[in-house]
Amino acid sequence: MITLKEALTKSNEELESLKVEMEAKAKEGGLNAYIDFSSTGEGVPILIKDNIQVKDWSVTSGSQILQGYVAPYNATVIENLKAKGFSAFGRANMDEFAMGSTTESSFYGVTKNPYGDDRVPGGSSGGSAAAVAGGIAIAALGSDTGGSIRQPAAYCGCVGMKPTYGRVSRFGLASYASSLDQIGPITQNVEDAAILYDAIASHDEKDSTCSTLELTPVTENLNPDRKLTIAVIDNYVSEASQDIQDAYAKTVEVLKEAGHTIVHKNMANTKYDIATYYIVATAEATTNLARYDGIRYGKRVEGGNLEETFRNTRAQFGDEVKRRIMLGNFVLSAGYYDAYYVKAQKVRHLIRDEFNAIFEEADLILSPVAPTVAPKIGSIHDPLEMYKSDMYTIAINLAGLPALSLPVAKDAQGMPIGLQLIGKAFNEQAVFDGALSLENTINYTK
Ligand code: GLN
Repeated sequence: MITLKEALTKSNEELESLKVEMEAKAKEGGLNAYIDFSSTGEGVPILIKDNIQVKDWSVTSGSQILQGYVAPYNATVIENLKAKGFSAFGRANMDEFAMGSTTESSFYGVTKNPYGDDRVPGGSSGGSAAAVAGGIAIAALGSDTGGSIRQPAAYCGCVGMKPTYGRVSRFGLASYASSLDQIGPITQNVEDAAILYDAIASHDEKDSTCSTLELTPVTENLNPDRKLTIAVIDNYVSEASQDIQDAYAKTVEVLKEAGHTIVHKNMANTKYDIATYYIVATAEATTNLARYDGIRYGKRVEGGNLEETFRNTRAQFGDEVKRRIMLGNFVLSAGYYDAYYVKAQKVRHLIRDEFNAIFEEADLILSPVAPTVAPKIGSIHDPLEMYKSDMYTIAINLAGLPALSLPVAKDAQGMPIGLQLIGKAFNEQAVFDGALSLENTINYTK
């Protein structure tokens, strides 16, 4: 597949025939990465996750409950793409309401990993990552609440970037956990991620959490020769599989050889990351998902009275979504609010402070993205086991930081291993510069 940079030099006729080719290849390939092939017309085609509104397209967040719902307006990221010569092309499969790490909970069925059709592509933006890695999309948008861009990118051997919270508008993104959600690019390489990030980042009056800090384009300032100070968190890495620890150690050597300074740090609060995230995220999710009542959006399953209609309609949510609604209601309930929700908010501050302390001495932090490579489809039965697989990604959302995941190695079965570079809030430039330097020196081949 041509890169995003190359696609920007193509004529509209060439791009039109590329779309026809992508659709045919996607249909015969069997990855189940696309759930639809709608197009907004001229411009470089970008695949869009099924939780981002594109005017007049169906938008269902991978859920049965939103069947039949058509978006009445464009998300701000879609307006931004159109203004910069891009178009929306195709809907990417995802875990229902972006809750998951495998893309197995979608109403549209499981998406497969292009590196092994018995492997999950990761989640929740698994459709976006599988399509980019499988050569059936030039680039895609995903959303990342606790890793959903970076982790599928790592499992599929492509690049995924979560911007700083507030750098990209959430207007028109179906909310999962509003204080954590960010839209970002999934691409074939680091430069393409920078191009797509520049295209979508903006101020936006329609999203009050969008930052008003000055926005400087990263692509034109990309500098892989910049020497950076990169922190490695020794106590953290030891929980990953041996293959991932080996890839991490090799990457540290490559970064040193490229002239970066490595500093060794520890983090004390990482053992609280998963609990904190799953309290904050489910509390916000339960509030956000209260709107799906059969009256205002999508599917309605009538009952004998209003309450029964609510109940019948909400029974359409899948198991994982129901589990999170129950957990969220529990942590917000009067008797437990202080013990769980308020405490989690306090720990969230400690986690952010710990990152900030490291960033007093370092420009970037190098971290695994996931403790293992992509697991086999159907192999995770215990929800807690799945939550644990988010251990390396969720703290970054709790702290609101930018991070980019890129492939650095493969395991003995040929499954990709990704690592992430985490940056200071609003310093996307350092993240992209460091990632480009690493991409240029690590010699990863597809
Ligand atoms: N796996 C995490 C969860 O299920 C992250 C999902 C996401 O980033 N949308 O909450």
